[in-house]
Amino acid sequence: MRKIDKTKPVLVTGGSGYLASWIIKKLLEDGINVNATVRDPSNTQKVEQLNAIAEDAPGNLKFFQADLMHSGSFDEPMQDCQLVIHTASPFFLTGIKNPEKELIQPAREGTRNVLGSAKKNPTVKRVVLTSSVMAIYGDNADMALATGGRFTEQDWNVTSSADHQPYSYSKTMAEKEAWAIAKEQDQWDLLTINPGWILGPSVSTRTDSTSIRTMIEFGNGTYKNGVPELWSNIVDVRDVATAHIKAGFTPEASGRHIVVSGEATLLDIAKILQKHFGRDYPFPRREAPKFLFWLVAPMYGHTRKFVSKNVGIRVKFDTSYSKTDLNMSYIPIEQTIKEHFQQIRDDGLLRKR
Ligand code: NAP
Repeated sequence: MRKIDKTKPVLVTGGSGYLASWIIKKLLEDGINVNATVRDPSNTQKVEQLNAIAEDAPGNLKFFQADLMHSGSFDEPMQDCQLVIHTASPFFLTGIKNPEKELIQPAREGTRNVLGSAKKNPTVKRVVLTSSVMAIYGDNADMALATGGRFTEQDWNVTSSADHQPYSYSKTMAEKEAWAIAKEQDQWDLLTINPGWILGPSVSTRTDSTSIRTMIEFGNGTYKNGVPELWSNIVDVRDVATAHIKAGFTPEASGRHIVVSGEATLLDIAKILQKHFGRDYPFPRREAPKFLFWLVAPMYGHTRKFVSKNVGIRVKFDTSYSKTDLNMSYIPIEQTIKEHFQQIRDDGLLRKR
Protein backbone atom coordinates (compact mmCIF):
# COMPACT_ATOMS: atom_id res chain seq x y z
CA MET A 1 0.00 0.00 0.00
CA ARG A 2 1.65 3.24 -1.14
CA LYS A 3 -0.31 6.42 -0.67
CA ILE A 4 0.96 9.21 -2.87
CA ASP A 5 0.83 12.77 -1.51
CA LYS A 6 -1.12 14.76 -4.12
CA THR A 7 0.58 18.01 -3.12
CA LYS A 8 3.92 16.69 -4.41
CA PRO A 9 4.80 17.06 -8.10
CA VAL A 10 4.39 14.05 -10.39
CA LEU A 11 7.15 13.37 -12.90
CA VAL A 12 5.94 12.50 -16.41
CA THR A 13 8.68 11.50 -18.88
CA GLY A 14 8.24 12.09 -22.63
CA GLY A 15 5.95 14.96 -21.65
CA SER A 16 5.14 16.25 -25.14
CA GLY A 17 4.07 12.82 -26.47
CA TYR A 18 0.56 11.93 -27.64
CA LEU A 19 -0.26 9.88 -24.53
CA ALA A 20 1.80 11.87 -22.01
CA SER A 21 0.05 15.11 -23.00
CA TRP A 22 -3.29 13.61 -21.92
CA ILE A 23 -1.80 12.35 -18.65
CA ILE A 24 -0.40 15.83 -17.94
CA LYS A 25 -3.65 17.60 -18.90
CA LYS A 26 -5.68 15.38 -16.55
CA LEU A 27 -3.19 15.78 -13.67
CA LEU A 28 -3.11 19.58 -14.06
CA GLU A 29 -6.91 19.75 -14.19
CA ASP A 30 -7.01 17.69 -10.97
CA GLY A 31 -4.80 20.35 -9.34
CA ILE A 32 -1.67 18.19 -9.31
CA ASN A 33 1.68 19.79 -10.12
CA VAL A 34 3.65 18.16 -12.93
CA ASN A 35 7.34 18.01 -13.77
CA ALA A 36 7.49 16.99 -17.43
CA THR A 37 10.63 15.95 -19.27
CA VAL A 38 11.12 16.64 -22.97
CA ARG A 39 14.14 16.24 -25.19
CA ASP A 40 14.00 19.82 -26.42
CA PRO A 41 12.10 22.33 -24.26
CA SER A 42 12.91 25.08 -26.78
CA ASN A 43 10.72 23.35 -29.38
CA THR A 44 7.70 25.56 -28.71
CA GLN A 45 5.42 23.61 -31.04
CA LYS A 46 5.76 20.61 -28.73
CA VAL A 47 5.13 22.44 -25.44
CA GLU A 48 2.86 25.41 -26.21
CA GLN A 49 -0.45 23.50 -26.00
CA LEU A 50 0.40 22.11 -22.56
CA ASN A 51 1.60 25.51 -21.35
CA ALA A 52 -1.76 26.95 -22.45
CA ILE A 53 -3.63 24.21 -20.54
CA ALA A 54 -1.48 24.85 -17.45
CA GLU A 55 -2.40 28.55 -17.51
CA ASP A 56 -6.08 27.74 -16.93
CA ALA A 57 -5.64 24.66 -14.72
CA PRO A 58 -5.15 24.54 -10.93
CA GLY A 59 -1.94 22.47 -11.23
CA ASN A 60 1.46 23.94 -12.14
CA LEU A 61 3.62 22.64 -14.98
CA LYS A 62 7.43 22.72 -15.22
CA PHE A 63 9.39 21.43 -18.21
CA PHE A 64 12.85 19.85 -17.84
CA GLN A 65 15.30 18.71 -20.50
CA ALA A 66 16.06 14.95 -20.37
CA ASP A 67 17.10 12.26 -22.81
CA LEU A 68 16.57 8.54 -22.29
CA MET A 69 20.17 7.88 -23.32
CA HIS A 70 21.71 10.32 -20.80
CA SER A 71 22.24 8.76 -17.42
CA GLY A 72 21.34 11.13 -14.57
CA SER A 73 19.21 13.39 -16.74
CA PHE A 74 16.09 12.46 -14.76
CA ASP A 75 17.66 13.24 -11.34
CA GLU A 76 16.69 16.91 -11.24
CA PRO A 77 13.13 16.59 -12.64
CA MET A 78 12.43 13.77 -10.13
CA GLN A 79 13.35 15.87 -7.07
CA ASP A 80 10.55 15.94 -4.47
CA CYS A 81 8.37 13.57 -6.60
CA GLN A 82 6.65 10.57 -4.99
CA LEU A 83 5.13 9.35 -8.24
CA VAL A 84 7.00 8.81 -11.52
CA ILE A 85 5.07 8.08 -14.73
CA HIS A 86 7.52 6.88 -17.37
CA THR A 87 5.97 7.06 -20.84
CA ALA A 88 8.99 8.07 -22.98
CA SER A 89 10.07 5.41 -25.46
CA PRO A 90 10.62 5.53 -29.21
CA PHE A 91 7.45 4.40 -30.98
CA PHE A 92 7.57 3.58 -34.67
CA LEU A 93 6.79 0.40 -36.55
CA THR A 94 8.23 0.94 -40.04
CA GLY A 95 11.25 2.63 -41.63
CA ILE A 96 13.60 1.18 -39.00
CA LYS A 97 17.22 0.86 -40.20
CA ASN A 98 19.02 0.03 -36.97
CA PRO A 99 16.55 -1.50 -34.46
CA GLU A 100 19.14 -1.82 -31.68
CA LYS A 101 20.11 1.86 -31.84
CA GLU A 102 16.76 3.39 -32.77
CA LEU A 103 14.40 1.34 -30.56
CA ILE A 104 15.91 -1.22 -28.21
CA GLN A 105 18.70 0.81 -26.61
CA PRO A 106 16.62 3.93 -25.89
CA ALA A 107 13.73 1.83 -24.51
CA ARG A 108 15.87 -0.39 -22.27
CA GLU A 109 18.58 2.09 -21.25
CA GLY A 110 15.96 4.80 -20.84
CA THR A 111 14.10 2.60 -18.38
CA ARG A 112 17.40 1.88 -16.61
CA ASN A 113 18.17 5.60 -16.39
CA VAL A 114 14.73 6.64 -15.15
CA LEU A 115 14.61 3.85 -12.56
CA GLY A 116 18.25 4.53 -11.67
CA SER A 117 17.25 8.08 -10.74
CA ALA A 118 14.29 6.67 -8.74
CA LYS A 119 16.66 4.41 -6.79
CA LYS A 120 18.78 7.41 -5.83
CA ASN A 121 15.81 9.57 -4.87
CA PRO A 122 14.39 8.82 -1.37
CA THR A 123 11.08 10.61 -2.05
CA VAL A 124 9.92 8.23 -4.82
CA LYS A 125 7.26 5.74 -3.67
CA ARG A 126 5.74 4.46 -6.93
CA VAL A 127 6.71 4.16 -10.62
CA VAL A 128 4.09 3.62 -13.31
CA LEU A 129 5.65 2.42 -16.57
CA THR A 130 3.94 2.66 -19.97
CA SER A 131 4.51 -0.75 -21.42
CA SER A 132 2.33 -2.26 -24.16
CA VAL A 133 0.34 -5.32 -25.10
CA MET A 134 3.36 -5.90 -27.34
CA ALA A 135 5.20 -7.02 -24.17
CA ILE A 136 2.41 -9.61 -23.70
CA TYR A 137 2.52 -11.11 -27.22
CA GLY A 138 4.59 -10.65 -30.39
CA ASP A 139 2.59 -11.88 -33.37
CA ASN A 140 -1.13 -12.55 -33.68
CA ALA A 141 -0.13 -16.18 -34.35
CA ASP A 142 1.01 -16.31 -30.69
CA MET A 143 -2.70 -16.65 -29.84
CA ALA A 144 -1.98 -20.38 -30.12
CA LEU A 145 0.09 -19.95 -26.91
CA ALA A 146 -2.67 -18.16 -24.94
CA THR A 147 -4.27 -20.45 -22.40
CA GLY A 148 -8.06 -20.01 -22.28
CA GLY A 149 -8.15 -18.32 -25.69
CA ARG A 150 -7.22 -14.87 -24.34
CA PHE A 151 -3.96 -13.21 -23.35
CA THR A 152 -3.71 -12.19 -19.69
CA GLU A 153 -1.18 -10.31 -17.58
CA GLN A 154 0.59 -13.65 -16.97
CA ASP A 155 1.71 -13.80 -20.62
CA TRP A 156 4.96 -12.47 -22.02
CA ASN A 157 6.07 -11.84 -25.59
CA VAL A 158 8.47 -14.69 -26.38
CA THR A 159 8.60 -14.40 -30.18
CA SER A 160 9.88 -10.88 -30.99
CA SER A 161 13.54 -10.08 -31.58
CA ALA A 162 15.72 -7.28 -32.95
CA ASP A 163 15.09 -8.75 -36.43
CA HIS A 164 11.39 -9.47 -36.15
CA GLN A 165 8.93 -7.01 -34.58
CA PRO A 166 11.72 -4.87 -33.04
CA TYR A 167 9.33 -2.32 -31.49
CA SER A 168 7.54 -5.14 -29.65
CA TYR A 169 10.92 -6.49 -28.59
CA SER A 170 11.99 -3.05 -27.30
CA LYS A 171 8.84 -2.82 -25.14
CA THR A 172 9.35 -6.37 -23.83
CA MET A 173 13.00 -5.75 -22.95
CA ALA A 174 12.19 -2.42 -21.29
CA GLU A 175 9.42 -3.90 -19.15
CA LYS A 176 11.53 -6.91 -18.13
CA GLU A 177 14.35 -4.56 -17.18
CA ALA A 178 11.94 -2.48 -15.09
CA TRP A 179 10.65 -5.50 -13.12
CA ALA A 180 14.24 -6.68 -12.52
CA ILE A 181 15.28 -3.25 -11.17
CA ALA A 182 12.10 -2.96 -9.08
CA LYS A 183 12.87 -6.29 -7.37
CA GLU A 184 16.29 -5.01 -6.23
CA GLN A 185 14.70 -2.56 -3.77
CA ASP A 186 11.51 -1.93 -1.78
CA GLN A 187 11.43 1.86 -1.51
CA TRP A 188 9.01 2.15 -4.46
CA ASP A 189 6.72 -0.29 -6.21
CA LEU A 190 6.29 -0.72 -9.96
CA LEU A 191 3.02 -0.93 -11.88
CA THR A 192 2.76 -1.26 -15.63
CA ILE A 193 0.05 -0.17 -18.03
CA ASN A 194 -0.02 -2.40 -21.12
CA PRO A 195 -2.24 -0.61 -23.65
CA GLY A 196 -3.43 -1.91 -26.99
CA TRP A 197 -3.32 0.33 -30.06
CA ILE A 198 -3.94 3.83 -28.71
CA LEU A 199 -6.26 6.06 -30.76
CA GLY A 200 -8.44 9.06 -29.98
CA PRO A 201 -8.18 12.84 -30.15
CA SER A 202 -4.87 14.39 -29.17
CA VAL A 203 -4.20 17.34 -26.92
CA SER A 204 -2.03 19.08 -29.51
CA THR A 205 -2.04 19.43 -33.29
CA ARG A 206 1.29 17.60 -33.70
CA THR A 207 1.23 14.80 -36.23
CA ASP A 208 4.50 12.96 -35.56
CA SER A 209 2.93 10.28 -33.36
CA THR A 210 2.50 6.93 -35.11
CA SER A 211 -1.11 6.70 -33.85
CA ILE A 212 -2.04 10.10 -35.30
CA ARG A 213 -0.22 9.46 -38.58
CA THR A 214 -2.13 6.19 -39.09
CA MET A 215 -5.49 7.94 -38.69
CA ILE A 216 -4.39 10.59 -41.20
CA GLU A 217 -3.44 7.79 -43.62
CA PHE A 218 -7.00 6.42 -43.42
CA GLY A 219 -8.26 9.77 -44.70
CA ASN A 220 -5.60 10.63 -47.29
CA GLY A 221 -6.01 7.56 -49.48
CA THR A 222 -2.93 5.58 -48.39
CA TYR A 223 -5.11 2.46 -48.02
CA LYS A 224 -7.71 3.24 -50.69
CA ASN A 225 -6.96 0.04 -52.65
CA GLY A 226 -7.75 -2.13 -49.66
CA VAL A 227 -6.38 -3.14 -46.27
CA PRO A 228 -5.16 -6.49 -45.01
CA GLU A 229 -7.35 -8.38 -42.53
CA LEU A 230 -5.33 -7.19 -39.58
CA TRP A 231 -6.90 -7.45 -36.13
CA SER A 232 -5.89 -4.97 -33.43
CA ASN A 233 -6.97 -4.23 -29.92
CA ILE A 234 -7.86 -0.58 -29.59
CA VAL A 235 -8.04 1.70 -26.59
CA ASP A 236 -8.83 5.40 -26.26
CA VAL A 237 -5.90 7.66 -25.37
CA ARG A 238 -8.03 9.33 -22.67
CA ASP A 239 -8.67 5.93 -21.01
CA VAL A 240 -4.96 5.07 -21.15
CA ALA A 241 -4.15 8.37 -19.44
CA THR A 242 -6.79 7.66 -16.78
CA ALA A 243 -5.34 4.18 -16.23
CA HIS A 244 -1.89 5.68 -15.52
CA ILE A 245 -3.33 8.16 -13.03
CA LYS A 246 -5.45 5.53 -11.27
CA ALA A 247 -2.40 3.24 -11.14
CA GLY A 248 -0.44 6.08 -9.56
CA PHE A 249 -2.98 7.07 -6.92
CA THR A 250 -4.71 3.78 -5.98
CA PRO A 251 -2.62 2.65 -2.98
CA GLU A 252 -3.59 -1.04 -3.16
CA ALA A 253 -3.17 -1.36 -6.97
CA SER A 254 -0.33 -3.55 -8.21
CA GLY A 255 1.20 -5.42 -11.13
CA ARG A 256 0.65 -5.34 -14.89
CA HIS A 257 -2.58 -4.07 -16.47
CA ILE A 258 -3.85 -4.89 -19.95
CA VAL A 259 -5.73 -1.77 -21.04
CA VAL A 260 -7.92 -2.44 -24.08
CA SER A 261 -11.46 -1.46 -25.13
CA GLY A 262 -12.07 -4.04 -27.85
CA GLU A 263 -10.93 -5.63 -31.10
CA ALA A 264 -11.35 -4.39 -34.65
CA THR A 265 -9.88 -4.98 -38.09
CA LEU A 266 -8.57 -2.16 -40.25
CA LEU A 267 -11.72 -2.56 -42.35
CA ASP A 268 -13.90 -2.22 -39.23
CA ILE A 269 -12.16 1.11 -38.58
CA ALA A 270 -12.76 2.16 -42.19
CA LYS A 271 -16.46 1.24 -41.89
CA ILE A 272 -16.83 3.44 -38.81
CA LEU A 273 -15.18 6.29 -40.70
CA GLN A 274 -17.44 5.75 -43.73
CA LYS A 275 -20.51 5.78 -41.50
CA HIS A 276 -19.63 9.12 -39.89
CA PHE A 277 -17.71 10.97 -42.62
CA GLY A 278 -19.49 9.64 -45.70
CA ARG A 279 -17.97 9.96 -49.11
CA ASP A 280 -15.68 12.91 -48.37
CA TYR A 281 -12.51 10.82 -48.03
CA PRO A 282 -11.00 7.85 -49.92
CA PHE A 283 -11.40 5.34 -47.09
CA PRO A 284 -10.57 1.70 -47.84
CA ARG A 285 -13.69 -0.28 -48.79
CA ARG A 286 -12.37 -3.83 -48.99
CA GLU A 287 -9.86 -6.27 -47.60
CA ALA A 288 -6.92 -7.20 -49.83
CA PRO A 289 -6.26 -10.95 -50.01
CA LYS A 290 -3.49 -12.12 -47.69
CA PHE A 291 -1.31 -13.46 -50.52
CA LEU A 292 -1.49 -10.09 -52.31
CA PHE A 293 -0.46 -8.20 -49.20
CA TRP A 294 2.28 -10.80 -48.63
CA LEU A 295 3.65 -9.95 -52.10
CA VAL A 296 3.59 -6.16 -51.68
CA ALA A 297 4.32 -5.99 -47.92
CA PRO A 298 7.96 -4.78 -48.29
CA MET A 299 6.69 -1.76 -50.28
CA TYR A 300 4.62 -0.79 -47.23
CA GLY A 301 7.51 -1.29 -44.79
CA HIS A 302 6.42 -4.74 -43.53
CA THR A 303 8.21 -8.07 -43.82
CA ARG A 304 6.58 -11.14 -45.36
CA LYS A 305 7.09 -12.94 -42.04
CA PHE A 306 4.97 -10.23 -40.41
CA VAL A 307 2.17 -10.87 -42.91
CA SER A 308 2.33 -14.66 -42.49
CA LYS A 309 2.17 -14.46 -38.71
CA ASN A 310 -0.36 -11.67 -38.30
CA VAL A 311 -2.80 -11.17 -41.16
CA GLY A 312 -6.12 -12.97 -40.75
CA ILE A 313 -5.51 -14.00 -37.12
CA ARG A 314 -7.72 -12.62 -34.36
CA VAL A 315 -6.24 -11.58 -30.99
CA LYS A 316 -8.19 -11.46 -27.74
CA PHE A 317 -7.37 -10.11 -24.30
CA ASP A 318 -8.78 -10.59 -20.84
CA THR A 319 -9.20 -7.04 -19.49
CA SER A 320 -10.87 -8.01 -16.23
CA TYR A 321 -7.85 -7.15 -14.07
CA SER A 322 -7.80 -3.46 -15.11
CA LYS A 323 -11.52 -3.30 -14.32
CA THR A 324 -11.11 -4.66 -10.80
CA ASP A 325 -7.67 -3.34 -9.79
CA LEU A 326 -8.04 0.14 -11.36
CA ASN A 327 -11.83 0.34 -11.69
CA MET A 328 -11.43 1.03 -15.39
CA SER A 329 -14.28 1.28 -17.89
CA TYR A 330 -13.65 1.85 -21.57
CA ILE A 331 -14.83 4.33 -24.20
CA PRO A 332 -16.39 2.35 -27.11
CA ILE A 333 -14.12 2.00 -30.16
CA GLU A 334 -16.63 3.73 -32.45
CA GLN A 335 -16.56 6.88 -30.33
CA THR A 336 -12.75 6.84 -30.18
CA ILE A 337 -12.36 6.56 -33.95
CA LYS A 338 -15.07 9.09 -34.73
CA GLU A 339 -13.69 11.72 -32.35
CA HIS A 340 -10.10 11.11 -33.46
CA PHE A 341 -10.92 11.58 -37.14
CA GLN A 342 -13.15 14.56 -36.38
CA GLN A 343 -10.23 16.24 -34.66
CA ILE A 344 -7.67 15.73 -37.42
CA ARG A 345 -10.28 16.97 -39.89
CA ASP A 346 -11.05 20.07 -37.78
CA ASP A 347 -7.31 20.72 -37.39
CA GLY A 348 -7.00 20.87 -41.20
CA LEU A 349 -4.70 17.85 -41.40
CA LEU A 350 -6.76 16.31 -44.23
CA ARG A 351 -8.02 17.37 -47.62
CA LYS A 352 -11.45 16.26 -48.86
CA ARG A 353 -11.39 14.56 -52.25
P1 NAP B 1 4.81 9.57 -29.07
O1 NAP B 1 3.88 10.71 -29.17
O2 NAP B 1 5.75 9.32 -30.20
O3 NAP B 1 5.58 9.68 -27.70
C1 NAP B 1 6.83 9.06 -27.48
C2 NAP B 1 7.56 9.92 -26.50
O4 NAP B 1 8.82 9.32 -26.21
C3 NAP B 1 7.83 11.31 -27.05
O5 NAP B 1 7.50 12.25 -26.07
C4 NAP B 1 9.32 11.30 -27.30
O6 NAP B 1 9.92 12.55 -27.04
C5 NAP B 1 9.80 10.32 -26.24
N1 NAP B 1 11.12 9.81 -26.60
C6 NAP B 1 11.45 8.99 -27.63
N2 NAP B 1 12.77 8.80 -27.63
C7 NAP B 1 13.28 9.51 -26.59
C8 NAP B 1 14.59 9.72 -26.07
N3 NAP B 1 15.68 9.16 -26.62
N4 NAP B 1 14.72 10.52 -24.99
C9 NAP B 1 13.65 11.09 -24.41
N5 NAP B 1 12.39 10.94 -24.86
C10 NAP B 1 12.23 10.16 -25.94
O7 NAP B 1 4.00 8.20 -28.90
P2 NAP B 1 2.92 7.74 -27.82
O8 NAP B 1 1.94 6.93 -28.57
O9 NAP B 1 2.46 8.87 -26.98
O10 NAP B 1 3.79 6.73 -26.93
C11 NAP B 1 3.93 6.91 -25.53
C12 NAP B 1 4.22 5.58 -24.88
O11 NAP B 1 3.11 4.70 -25.10
C13 NAP B 1 5.45 4.85 -25.43
O12 NAP B 1 6.09 4.21 -24.35
C14 NAP B 1 4.83 3.79 -26.36
O13 NAP B 1 5.68 2.67 -26.51
C15 NAP B 1 3.58 3.45 -25.57
N6 NAP B 1 2.50 2.81 -26.31
C16 NAP B 1 1.95 3.46 -27.39
C17 NAP B 1 0.90 2.84 -28.08
C18 NAP B 1 0.23 3.53 -29.24
O14 NAP B 1 -0.56 2.88 -29.96
N7 NAP B 1 0.46 4.84 -29.46
C19 NAP B 1 0.43 1.59 -27.67
C20 NAP B 1 1.01 0.97 -26.55
C21 NAP B 1 2.05 1.59 -25.87
P3 NAP B 1 10.04 13.70 -28.15
O15 NAP B 1 8.76 14.45 -28.08
O16 NAP B 1 11.22 14.46 -27.71
O17 NAP B 1 10.23 13.03 -29.48
